[in-house]
Amino acid sequence: MKNLFCKIKKVPVVLTAFVFAGNVFLCSCGPVKTTEPEVIENEPVTEEVTETVSEPEEVVSEVKEVEEVEEVVEEPEEVYVPTAQELSPYKEIKLDGVKEHHFVSDDYCYIESEKYVLFLDKDVDLPGDFVTNMDAIVDEIERQLQVSCMPEDYEYCGVTDNTSYYGMNPWEDWDIRPKMSIFIMTDEDAKGYISNASADDLVIADYALYSEDVWNSNPEFYASEYRVRFDYVDYYAIAHELTHTVTLRQSHMTDIMTEGIADYMSREVVNALAPAYPSIGENKAEAEKYLYDAMIPEKVNADNAERIFISDYQDIDHADRGAEYVTGRYLCQFLDETYGDDFFLKYKEQIDADGIDYGYDECTEEVRINYANALKEVFGDDVFTKFGDWCVKNHALQELGGVW
Ligand SMILES: [Zn+2]
Repeated sequence: MKNLFCKIKKVPVVLTAFVFAGNVFLCSCGPVKTTEPEVIENEPVTEEVTETVSEPEEVVSEVKEVEEVEEVVEEPEEVYVPTAQELSPYKEIKLDGVKEHHFVSDDYCYIESEKYVLFLDKDVDLPGDFVTNMDAIVDEIERQLQVSCMPEDYEYCGVTDNTSYYGMNPWEDWDIRPKMSIFIMTDEDAKGYISNASADDLVIADYALYSEDVWNSNPEFYASEYRVRFDYVDYYAIAHELTHTVTLRQSHMTDIMTEGIADYMSREVVNALAPAYPSIGENKAEAEKYLYDAMIPEKVNADNAERIFISDYQDIDHADRGAEYVTGRYLCQFLDETYGDDFFLKYKEQIDADGIDYGYDECTEEVRINYANALKEVFGDDVFTKFGDWCVKNHALQELGGVW
């Protein structure tokens, strides 16, 4: 509504400008004309200010204006240096937005959007509405978490070297800061790569985005019952990984919160977008059958909720992961329902205020206690007992074998 109001308000302003600029412009359309009077207006200002420079007792702010004007004049003389992106032999691709249309890459190529760049491997098959859906997912994550995916205080780097996937980095020396690097990869040797994310980049490995040729080229893909190629793009997984990048650019958290918020947001985002975005709607209708709650080592209640949060399931064998995902997802759902939509933003600000940051070191028990205390500082000392009671009442985290 706010945007619409601004658009309506703008119309009379533009018309007024035309009237003052002279009758000639009344017949013309487009905002280009309005820039002309502005340029003319600037010139006398420059002369006036330049004259005052010789009088040292004049107002200081006017002298500053001279400096600003001089800087603007110098700009065109700067030497043009092409970026690695401009020198790249790889093409920029644009999709037409039609979901039935497909683009299949025969070489490395890229798609640039407002908040990210998609780096495509060879033999990627993208539906025409892929970027439309990706844009909507990023916007929805930002809207719900109330944070930007490109925060000003994050220390950005150039495009990361994903040699573990490519064996080479076609995007070396590219600088797309502060946009997110999103690699869409095909795993032609069937090494079993899965999607993953960091604060700098994310990798999407989805069999539905492999071309027919590359899928048929390696019997290992379809020989394994664990490698299922769905005929829809898994936007749940994409929303999960995108949430990682967005939240990691804000703050490090425990495993339970990191995986929990990603799983929580993936469902929230797909549910929110499904009605308006047909491909996401189809994904939801099919994939909902496979959503599950992972196994947990003990039922959660008011007595053990804080201890479990601090344990962070760090002692569970990594091969059997899942408990931190489902526990964190329910914790986020509880926080949202009980304390409001801005629970993540409030928690992140408390983490910042407390100076909790373990960087690339181990998230020790001492650090995890600090994260638990930050949660209590924001939402009250009883946040964990309330969460335990909520779990029992809603029969969440009560089935050790999971819910399938
Ligand atoms: Zn994850």
